[in-house]
Amino acid sequence: MLNIVLFGPPGAGKGTQSERLIEKYKLIHLSTGDILRGEIAAGTELGMKAKSLMDKGILVPDEVVIGMIDSKINANAGSKGFIFDGFPRTIAQADALDKLLSGKNSSITMMLALEVEKDELVRRILHRGKDSGRSDDTNLDIINKRIDEYNNKTAPLKEYYSQQNKLNVIKGVGGIEVIFGKLCEAIEKQV
Ligand code: ADP
Repeated sequence: MLNIVLFGPPGAGKGTQSERLIEKYKLIHLSTGDILRGEIAAGTELGMKAKSLMDKGILVPDEVVIGMIDSKINANAGSKGFIFDGFPRTIAQADALDKLLSGKNSSITMMLALEVEKDELVRRILHRGKDSGRSDDTNLDIINKRIDEYNNKTAPLKEYYSQQNKLNVIKGVGGIEVIFGKLCEAIEKQV
C-alpha cells in the first residue's frame, strides 16, 4: 500500500494537492476536516459537538477523529492506499494511526509536509472564506487560533515522522502544478 500523510498548516494546499494525488496514484482521500463537516451537514450529535470546537479553531478530541479514521480505513479495505489529509494532528493520533495500520499489516509510507509562511496562509484562508461557506475561514481570530493549534500540537509530528525516516519537506508556494510535481518526485523516490 501507499499510505501518505499529507501535512501542513491550515491553508497550505493539502486539499488541492490531495485531489491530484488521489487521481494519479488511485488512492483514497481521508480528510478528517471534510468528514467532520459532513457530520455537521448531516446534523449528527458528533457533528454538533465538533462544530462548537471547529468554530473556535480548536482541535476536536483525539478519540473522535481516531474513531472516524478507523471506520473509514475499514470501509476501504482492499484499496491501494490512503492520503491522510488533516490527520494525524497530534502525537496521540499518530500513535493510534500506526497501531491501526500495523493491525492491517500496513504502515505509513511517508509524510509530505507542505511549508508556507504565516502571512501567505492567512491570505489564502481569507480568500477561500469568500466562497467556501466555512465559518472558520472568515474570522481572523479563529484563523490565528487554528495556526496556533497547528504550531503547538501538530507541527511536532514532523519530528515524529523524521525519526522514522519518513519526512519529506516541500515548499508549498508557487504554481499548483509545480508543487504537485515536487510531491510526485518525492513519492517516486520513496517507493
Ligand atoms: P484546515 O487544515 O484548513 O484548518 P480542516 O478541514 O483540516 O482545515 O480542519 C478544520 C477543523 O476541523 C480544525 O480546525 C479542527 O477543529 C477540526 N479537525 C480536523 N481534523 C482534525 C483532527 N485530526 N484532529 C482534531 N481536530 C480536527
